[in-house]
Amino acid sequence: MGQSRPLPEVLADILTLEGALLERTGDGCLEFVVPSSLSQTLGVPEHGKLSFAYHPFDESVISASYESEFFRSVDRIFSGKGKMAKAVYSSQLPNIEKVSRWVSEKIALSNASFRLQKVDHQRIDYALIFFKYVALSDEKREGIFSLLVNEQNLSTSPLNANLTAFWEDLKEPEELLTRSEGISKALQAGFSAASLIVKEEFEPFMKSLERRLNRDIIRVFEYYETLKGEIHKTFEKKFIPGRDSPEAQNEEGRKALSGKLDAVEGEKRWKIQDLVSKYALNIRIEPVCIIDIETESLVFWLEIRRRLSSRTFPLSYNPLLKKADSLPCESCFHPRGTYYLCDEKLHILCATCFRKCPDCGREYCSVCHPKGCPRCKN
Ligand SMILES: [Zn+2]
Ligand SMILES: [Zn+2]
Ligand SMILES: [Zn+2]
Repeated sequence: MGQSRPLPEVLADILTLEGALLERTGDGCLEFVVPSSLSQTLGVPEHGKLSFAYHPFDESVISASYESEFFRSVDRIFSGKGKMAKAVYSSQLPNIEKVSRWVSEKIALSNASFRLQKVDHQRIDYALIFFKYVALSDEKREGIFSLLVNEQNLSTSPLNANLTAFWEDLKEPEELLTRSEGISKALQAGFSAASLIVKEEFEPFMKSLERRLNRDIIRVFEYYETLKGEIHKTFEKKFIPGRDSPEAQNEEGRKALSGKLDAVEGEKRWKIQDLVSKYALNIRIEPVCIIDIETESLVFWLEIRRRLSSRTFPLSYNPLLKKADSLPCESCFHPRGTYYLCDEKLHILCATCFRKCPDCGREYCSVCHPKGCPRCKN
C-alpha cells in the first residue's frame, strides 16, 4: 500500500517514543535496548534483536511479524493509557506573511469565495492515529498506516515515510496535560478517512479478485453446461422414442433425465456460490493507538462566503509537516478533487461528497442530508 509504512518503521516509532534505543542491523533486524519497565510490559529482555521475517532462523532473535506474540504485546504499551499517549512538540513557526499569501492564493473553493480575516497564534492539538487493517479473501493481507488529524478543524493527512521527520522531536510532556476534547471527533474523522484510504488502495486488488472470480465462474459454468449436454446425449441414445417402445418407458426416461439435470444444475449453483464467497473481500480496520500531540501554531481564520451567508473557518499551519493543512471534507474527511460549499450550512465538501442525485440531478450536501437526496427521499 502506498500510504502504509513498513511494520519495522512503525514499531520503531512506537518503541522510540516509549524510550527505546534502536539500531537497524545489516540482516534486516532491529537491535534494541529498552528501559526495564518497557521490557516488563512487552515480556522481552532489556536488550535483544527483533526480526520481521516470518520464520526467524536464529532462536535468539525475537519474531516481530504481525502474527507474533511480540506484535500483540505492543498493544499492552497502550492498554493502561486507553491506547493513548500524550506528546508535546515545540514548533518553529514560519513567516506569517508568506503563509498568508499562500493561503490566499492556493485555497480554491469552486462555488464560494473567502477572505483572510485574521491570524492567531494558538495551541493546537493533533491526533496521530495508527490504524491496522486486515483484508481477507482467498489470501490474507494486513498492514499498518498512520494519519495525522488536526483536532480543531479535522483536516487529515495520511503519513508516508517522508512525512514522519517530526517524530524525533516529540517529547513526553513534563506535567500531566489535560486531555484535549477534540480527540474523539478526531478519531471519528480519522476512521472515516482511513476506511476510504484502505478502500482506494485495495481497488487494484479488488479488480484482480473480480477478474479471478469471473474467470473461475466461466470455467465452472462451461464445465457444467458440457456435462449437461453429455447427459442429454446419453439419454437420447438410451430412450429413443420408437414405435415399439412403450409410452410409459419414454415417460420414465424423461423423468430420470430431468432429475439428473436438476442435480447438475444445483451443484453448479452451489459451486458458483462457493466461488463468490471465496473471492469476497472482507476488510477490517481498527485504531491501534493514538498519540495526542500538543503544539502551537498559526491559525488563519477564513471568512467563507456563499451567496448571502458566511462562516468563519480556522485553517492552520501544520508545524509537524511544515505546510498549511489542507481543508477537510466535512463529510468523508478524505477530500478528493476541488472543494464545494453547501447552501444550507456552508459545510466544506469534496467533489465526491457534493453529490448529484442520480434520479433528479440536484446537488446536495451529504452532511446536511446523510440519508440521501432531500427531494427524492420523500
Ligand atoms: Zn468528501
Ligand atoms: Zn433527487
Ligand atoms: Zn451541509
